[in-house]
Amino acid sequence: MNAKKIVVENLTVIFSSPRGEVEALRDVSFSVQDGEFVVIIGPSGCGKSTLLNAISGLIRSEDAYISGEVAITSPSDKGIGYLFQKDTLLPWRTVLGNIEVGLEVRGASEEVKRKVANGLIRKVGLQGFENKFPHELSGGMRQRVSIARTLAYNPDIILMDEPFGALDAQTRILLQDELLKIWRETRKTILLVTHDLSEAITLAKRILLMSARPGTIRKEYRIDLPESRSALKVRFMSRFTELYREIWKELSEEVYKQLRAR
Ligand code: ADP
Ligand code: MG
Repeated sequence: MNAKKIVVENLTVIFSSPRGEVEALRDVSFSVQDGEFVVIIGPSGCGKSTLLNAISGLIRSEDAYISGEVAITSPSDKGIGYLFQKDTLLPWRTVLGNIEVGLEVRGASEEVKRKVANGLIRKVGLQGFENKFPHELSGGMRQRVSIARTLAYNPDIILMDEPFGALDAQTRILLQDELLKIWRETRKTILLVTHDLSEAITLAKRILLMSARPGTIRKEYRIDLPESRSALKVRFMSRFTELYREIWKELSEEVYKQLRAR
């Protein structure tokens, strides 16, 4: 099936504050197919978080001028799961309790809740930590809980904002691997943004390259690496290096532009 899950057309977002106007996005257009894993890459400050916020309807009209269209196609009760850049776990709830939040929202019974939550705990490798609180966990573990919580909600579409940005390089590769496995198993539609080119090539079926601010889609790359790739092994493939070189040439121009604009 080739249904479009996310369609963004000519999206422009201009924030206004007493200090003036900031044009975050200009005329952004792209779409994401059902079951596709798309990564948007762009320099820090180019408007990536703004784009995900706009897609999920989180930008208030008091804060910004928004024009263009965002269309989401999904069964009405499933919608979007959003994994934020910052840690949003509830500190007073255990690992299990945090994962169950997504199920409570759906009104699942106690029994279903336990069963699904325990399955997800296994999937993200947190067995034995069910009753720990967020402050007792490492950053990598907290991020696993966040991923499990998002999956518990069982959304049709998952938006991820630099989900592994705060982790050390080793943990990042492990969780990227985990995410690839989960995507292969569930075929969720995933739109992830990052400033990390290795991460983008490792995960994506398609990369959209964003320009310096105001962000716009500058180029698109099909990532023809094996779908069954491992996040570690893929880095040693010559095709990975070729793609890295090709995309970095364009990305670095935008990174320099963005740095000069600060
Ligand atoms: P990225 O996620 O790519 O690093 P952001 O989307 O966070 O970039 O930010 C893009 C630009 O929009 C930045 O210049 C930022 O300061 C500005 N911006 C983001 N959110 C707001 C807001 N709520 N009010 C005013 N300016 C904002
Ligand atoms: Mg951001």
